[in-house]
Amino acid sequence: MDPRVQAFLTKQHGLFIDGATREAKGSRRIDVFDPATGEVAATVACADASDVDRAVASAKAAFDAGIWSGLPPVERERILLKFADLVEAHGEELAQLETINQGKSINIARMLDVGASLGYMRYYAGLATKITGQTLDVSIPLPPGARYTAFTRREPVGVVAAISPWNFPMMIGLWKVMPALAAGCTVVLKPSEVTPLTSLRLAELAIEAGVPAGAFNLVTGDGATGAALVNHPDVAKVTFTGSTATGKAIARTAADRLLKTSLELGGKNPAIFLKDVALEQAVGGAIMGGFLNSGQVCAAASRLYVAREIFDDFLGALSQAVGGMAIGPGLDPASQVTPVVSALHRDKIIGHIEEARRAGARVVTGGDMPNRPGYYVRPTIIADTTNDMVICRQEVFGPVVTVMPFSDEEEAIRLANDTNMGLTASLWTNDLAKTMNIVPRLKAGTVWVNSHNMIDPNMPFGGYKESGIGRDFGTSALDSYTELKSVCIAT
Ligand code: NAD
Repeated sequence: MDPRVQAFLTKQHGLFIDGATREAKGSRRIDVFDPATGEVAATVACADASDVDRAVASAKAAFDAGIWSGLPPVERERILLKFADLVEAHGEELAQLETINQGKSINIARMLDVGASLGYMRYYAGLATKITGQTLDVSIPLPPGARYTAFTRREPVGVVAAISPWNFPMMIGLWKVMPALAAGCTVVLKPSEVTPLTSLRLAELAIEAGVPAGAFNLVTGDGATGAALVNHPDVAKVTFTGSTATGKAIARTAADRLLKTSLELGGKNPAIFLKDVALEQAVGGAIMGGFLNSGQVCAAASRLYVAREIFDDFLGALSQAVGGMAIGPGLDPASQVTPVVSALHRDKIIGHIEEARRAGARVVTGGDMPNRPGYYVRPTIIADTTNDMVICRQEVFGPVVTVMPFSDEEEAIRLANDTNMGLTASLWTNDLAKTMNIVPRLKAGTVWVNSHNMIDPNMPFGGYKESGIGRDFGTSALDSYTELKSVCIAT
């Protein structure tokens, strides 16, 4: 283990408010576990409402003083690029920390949590200098014949509360913090209580990069801490990624004061394999789609629909490949299936599998926990399902996929869309005409063809139906961190 990681784990972590670590007023501490061993890896503070109040006050004072939004955009861009450089310089330390806290493979932590985040950070740093309005010609001047010059301005919305989940805590935290800061907002980040460690390190690096005190604050804590943040009257916008249930609770609170929200929520994502797809490609795609980070991916392909003509071969080959995956701790680069995040989550996944069995589904491979310390679930394939079974309707968020045959494309589309979620979908075929027919009919925010889980800062990402409201990524995501003001000048 990197000695900097060891040192960070043993630190007495506080909250990050007004540019420095502060002791929480709330005395409760939260144990943070290493899922590979089940042992406590660190403890963090649990911020109470008064701590949240201090963090929001710091962000509000920084916003009102204009110490961040008032900087020349090129200066904000320079600081945010420096922030990315520091994340890169500390990449190995951050990757190890993420693996120890979340359980994921160190390969994924290096490639996605750090590597992809860097691309994302630089993309949004660059947008700080590209915020523009429009000039507008008016058509119905009052009184007739009067002359006006009209234009729009994009202004930062104010204090942004960023609430993130436990599966990719650093990366998803950055999905929120970067556009907010690029737009000139100030931020209070609340990472998941289960995986708060890398976010704490990020706050330190942001200040080191030159983000002014108060522009980036962080509170650790649980759902009550998050709720206090959402309820705070000085928060202008909430950007949330997490479960649909919590997203709905936030939307209800937000409704009372018409608080702006972006909600990136759960998925129950289909992958459709047409009969022309090569078996090897289909199996590789199903593994990448369904088992990346032990299935703890909002975009994961958890419902596999396979053309009847290739179904038996597909199920046989997938079971063999999945049954042979190496189970082990994330710090071992050879591990292909790493632990899930917590004992609670492991038990929830096992509960879903048991429920599927009781409903009459067949566990083809996996379905249990290997006999070793830590929070492991064997990668699991479930067949003989029907779409009305709970296993096909509720997000499991673990290394579990269901596999069902379909007779024609109409049935595949109907089964894929038969869900109250709509985050992602994938289609596996080399038939161009079928691709162009099916893609527009899939009700999902992202549709991949012959790939799954491919995300990019330039590709908007978000959900149809109960998978969320709004889109992260892309230049348009910046708009949701700004107010649009029309200015009309009589000339
Ligand atoms: P969660 O909803 O339990 O928690 C997410 C965050 O919300 C945590 O920081 C938590 O402390 C906080 N929170 C809990 N109750 C709150 C409340 N009442 N008010 C404010 N904040 C509150 O989700 P999770 O279990 O951490 O994450 C897994 C979920 O996230 C899955 O459903 C997954 O699909 C979803 N997810 C979605 C995306 C996406 O981009 N759509 C990405 C990753 C994960």
